[in-house]
Amino acid sequence: MQAKNSSIRVLPEEIVARIAAGEVVERPASVVKELVENAIDAGASEIRVECVEGGKRLIRVTDNGSGIRSAEVALAFAHHATSKLRTTDDLAEIRTLGFRGEALASIAAVAQVTCLTRHVEETSGTLLRLEHGRIAHESRTGRAPGTTMTVEHLFANVPARLKFLKATQTERGHIDAMITRYALAYPHIRFALLHDGRLTFQSSGNGSVRDVLVEVYGAEMAAQMAAVEGEHEGIRVWGFAALPPLDHANRSRITLFVNGRPVQDTKLSHAVIQAYHTLLPPGRYPIAVIMVQVPPSEVDVNVHPAKAEVRFRDPDAVFGTVQRAVRKALIAQMQPVPIAIQAPPLSRGESAQEPTPATPVAPSRFAPLASQPTLTGSAAWERIGIPKQVQRPPEQTSAPAAAQPETAALPALRVLGQLAQTYILAEGPEGLYLIDQHAAHERILWERLMAQRELGAVASQALLDPAVVTLPPDAARLLEAHVPLLSDLGFEIEPFGNNTFLVRRVPAIMIQDDISAAMREIVADLESGESLLRRDLEARVLRRVCKRMAIKAGRVLSYAEMQALVRDLEACESPRTCPHGRPTMIHLGLAQLEKAFGRLG
Ligand code: ADP
Ligand code: MG
Repeated sequence: MQAKNSSIRVLPEEIVARIAAGEVVERPASVVKELVENAIDAGASEIRVECVEGGKRLIRVTDNGSGIRSAEVALAFAHHATSKLRTTDDLAEIRTLGFRGEALASIAAVAQVTCLTRHVEETSGTLLRLEHGRIAHESRTGRAPGTTMTVEHLFANVPARLKFLKATQTERGHIDAMITRYALAYPHIRFALLHDGRLTFQSSGNGSVRDVLVEVYGAEMAAQMAAVEGEHEGIRVWGFAALPPLDHANRSRITLFVNGRPVQDTKLSHAVIQAYHTLLPPGRYPIAVIMVQVPPSEVDVNVHPAKAEVRFRDPDAVFGTVQRAVRKALIAQMQPVPIAIQAPPLSRGESAQEPTPATPVAPSRFAPLASQPTLTGSAAWERIGIPKQVQRPPEQTSAPAAAQPETAALPALRVLGQLAQTYILAEGPEGLYLIDQHAAHERILWERLMAQRELGAVASQALLDPAVVTLPPDAARLLEAHVPLLSDLGFEIEPFGNNTFLVRRVPAIMIQDDISAAMREIVADLESGESLLRRDLEARVLRRVCKRMAIKAGRVLSYAEMQALVRDLEACESPRTCPHGRPTMIHLGLAQLEKAFGRLG
């Protein structure tokens, strides 16, 4: 690899600086980030960001913060020069966004920088100009207290970097995302963003995150976001989370701040995604802005040159608090799935969960089910042994102030009948509800099982004769490894040698199931979920149980059965989606019906 006559040399300082700069300054948006953070650290209440050609040609950040003392302006551009950190102890208690003293030096190494600043306690300001990191001009000048940093011709002296800069539109997009994030995290600061001389974003600085949300996403989207709030052992969480069906195709709209610092933390995003569990369809992701505040000693921010990653002392506590706070906000405000009436609304197949078999499924499956109380609602739960009061977690007390046409709870519904042996038609004060019987029953079973799991283990029942299950060797090993997990879910499984198992107990609701078939499905779920957290795996198994045991489409239901099912659905915490995130119901509002029938206007 090495050239023949190469010898080891210490690199010239200028090259070292350029290499180091590469870690901090990747693109125009990184310059904007560093300059904005400096302005925030300086206590600014107004920050104005101007860009030309997506920041490639010019970036100017003006603030009304404390300013820099004349005697220290040049020093601010030296490497490792900072006013924010004095001792190593300070490093454990960082309360400012900056602390490395690297940003200005790095930026100056790869661009032309002009700094115009005046410290609040001084009567005149300083104008300093640097070219390729060297001071080219310094003079005294007047201005109001505050700082203006102008960065021009980024990477002009680093052709390799210059080549990797993207189209103006792309770089501009990164800057927009950066500024809107800070505007959300710092609602007390008035931000203005200008591209090529035109104002493209502005926040009022009035302190309301909700107002910034409107400025960032528009009123319509902002109205579909629920306020998040939570606190647990010194960890504070707040922000906003979009209510399904408002969602996004990837994770890019999950914005996270830790102690006022934007972070990319896969596990923290995962906590947010988890909170939407079963509320979003597979492959869709939340939109959320979540701020986390932890004592500075609980988080290490010094793990990444651009400070985009952090490390928590107790990550599980943080993730748990985030997940619960988001979940609580969603549950409190979930709205029914709206339907647009264009086609005849009752056409089949539009919302079918799964193809309805032409003939009801084999009678052998249904005969015992029909004689079981599984379908008669509450009676079934009592059989499982859960008193009604604990069926719903007691969390959903706070209803954030946002405008909401309907709350999460279902109104009392009157069953009208069954459609296509698949949907229950019900009437409520707000119109017609078409309930998917399978999806609804899945939701009901799911919440019951989850409530039991939360209290300890899922209620289980012994099989009269243990089921003998033989699996392929791989699957057998997998099942063996998960015996303890399954035992918390109500299964008692005894390895019997030769890839064979005796299943002695199962979750009570499964007592009539084909246990061999069920175990094979469950093992398949374990297989594809090897890298999942235990909690996720458990949820997956329970979802499988619910799916197997929920009444199928194509099953004729008696009026009493439908009534019981609807009552139980009304009692659910999230009645409007099944555990897989698909809707359990379609709601046709009276206004929609009147419009469809041409009764209005
Ligand atoms: P850091 O922010 O990590 O301290 P920087 O290189 O970003 O390092 O800035 C160096 C120093 O310059 C800061 O510590 C601060 O004292 C000063 N400074 C930079 N920008 C501003 C600003 N906009 N207002 C006031 N002081 C600033
Ligand atoms: Mg800084």
